[in-house]
Amino acid sequence: KPGLVMRGIDRLSGKSSGSTVHALSDVTLSVAAGEVLGLVGESGCGKSTLGRIISGIYTPSDGRVLLDGAPVAHARGNNVEKLTTRVQMIHQDPFASLNPRMKVGETIAEGPRVHKLASAGDVRKRVRDLLQQVGLEGAYADRLPHQFSGGQRQRIAIARALAMEPDLLVLDEAVASLDVSIQAQVLNLFMELRRKLDLTAVFISHDLSVVRHVCDRVAIMYLGRIVELASARELYEKPQHPYTKALFASVPTLGTGRAAFQPIKGEIPSPLDPPKGCAFHPRCPMAGPRCKVELPLLKPVTGMATTVACHLNDGGTGIKTGSHAA
Ligand code: SF4
Ligand code: MG
Repeated sequence: KPGLVMRGIDRLSGKSSGSTVHALSDVTLSVAAGEVLGLVGESGCGKSTLGRIISGIYTPSDGRVLLDGAPVAHARGNNVEKLTTRVQMIHQDPFASLNPRMKVGETIAEGPRVHKLASAGDVRKRVRDLLQQVGLEGAYADRLPHQFSGGQRQRIAIARALAMEPDLLVLDEAVASLDVSIQAQVLNLFMELRRKLDLTAVFISHDLSVVRHVCDRVAIMYLGRIVELASARELYEKPQHPYTKALFASVPTLGTGRAAFQPIKGEIPSPLDPPKGCAFHPRCPMAGPRCKVELPLLKPVTGMATTVACHLNDGGTGIKTGSHAA
């Protein structure tokens, strides 16, 4: 199984006073079967837009998305039914995504029933199995969403997604609304399920500390483009792009105290009027004259599996890396 391939994805998110807004520009990525890819960046970087394109909810203005070699049908296509059984999305707010008047067992059973994936009796048994798989009791099937905590509701959302036996899961800030200790529990559950079920997933998060333990590779996004693509190990040991380093420095890490917390200077520029050249240049401590006029392309860093889009990578020796609090 080749997994997921995205090639040259562009997404224009409408026009404003004559200028076109690029939510995504030339995004090319692949996720091997059984792999978990992280998509990381600040809000507005395009990571959720990309997640919705992968899920078929948004149509790209250009480019192709292939799942196991076949094009993903987008919302305008006539193949949406089939698509929804193959890609399942898990959202940030489990309460908003669960029908408050529907017993959770019915919520989990709804997809398989609508898509006739199993007989009624099999579906009932499957609901109980799934609830147990996500660490809840089978008997909870008869309860309503409000009877569960936030963490339990996210477990239910995971069970509902798994009920469809998807080829790909897209998790969009799936633990962002949970307390840190509950986040860890849900992430551990995800890791356990991933091993058991050999899941393929795209894991979207603004939080590098969340991504660290669940992803094999990570793509860092800034203003609609990928600026760094690396294995999780290389990214956390040797981040390359100045934006990635700034993201690390802006994460308050346990034990490092307040002094280590360095918010990224400046605002995220408006996508209506993105900076020319490297879009990060107004905020980049390393920016030079070339950065204001020439777009840096993703290129491999010598001696690493990482690719990075930064003019400082041109020497072939990678970008000088200071240590970051990890
Ligand atoms: Fe900074 Fe220039 Fe590299 Fe952009 S290309 S990240 S502005 S050094
Ligand atoms: Mg988002």
